Amino acid sequence: MITAGPTYEKIDPVRFIGNYSSGKMGFALAAECAMRGAEVTLIAGPVERQTPKGVKRIDVESCEEMHHEATKAFAMADAAILCAAVADFKPLAAADTKIKRGNDDMTITLAPTHDIAAALGSCKREGQTLVGFALETDNEEVNAKKKLKKKNLDFIVLNSTRNEGTTFKSDDNMITIISQSDECHYDKKPKAEVARDIVDKMVEVMENKGKCL
Ligand code: C5P
Repeated sequence: MITAGPTYEKIDPVRFIGNYSSGKMGFALAAECAMRGAEVTLIAGPVERQTPKGVKRIDVESCEEMHHEATKAFAMADAAILCAAVADFKPLAAADTKIKRGNDDMTITLAPTHDIAAALGSCKREGQTLVGFALETDNEEVNAKKKLKKKNLDFIVLNSTRNEGTTFKSDDNMITIISQSDECHYDKKPKAEVARDIVDKMVEVMENKGKCL
């Protein structure tokens, strides 16, 4: 199971809180896993991308919807890669009608969303593999290691907005894979090749648990 893309959290019927995720990395991972013979369910936030061959795609919009579908799919999965850039906050209440312009400042109260990775990490069964992503702007390795532990992941893929021409919207990425026992830095390369590196590592972890892709 793979999550990809952004989530949109509704402010009113025509506005949302979102982010710049293009879904490129998650779709490349889905293509790589399918090419290696895995049965792939791709839970995609709102992106206009072609579904990779042989992949079952479920389109969602909000974190709430992604959480629902991911929980269902993970119950039947051997492994999951959580690549989506899920909103961490959503408007406490979405307005039913379009909010009108006024001259005063406006405040939108935000409430935390589900942490899908942490939820799946807490119900991970023996033999299941869970991989997360950490997109950081600063203090990269410390933050990634905290998330690895907090979300009970087998490994985390760190990428930083400080590396020019990588992450959001880019065709390339430059990653570090961090697990409890080791850390491996990779060169900047096209996302299809980055997907190969990540899936190689995932297969290694799965094989140690007596599973295959
Ligand atoms: O947003 P954050 O840096 O904590 O994301 C780390 C990991 O957690 C990523 O794999 C992301 O897909 C996942 N995540 C999630 N649900 C959230 C926030 C993040 O599954 N609400």
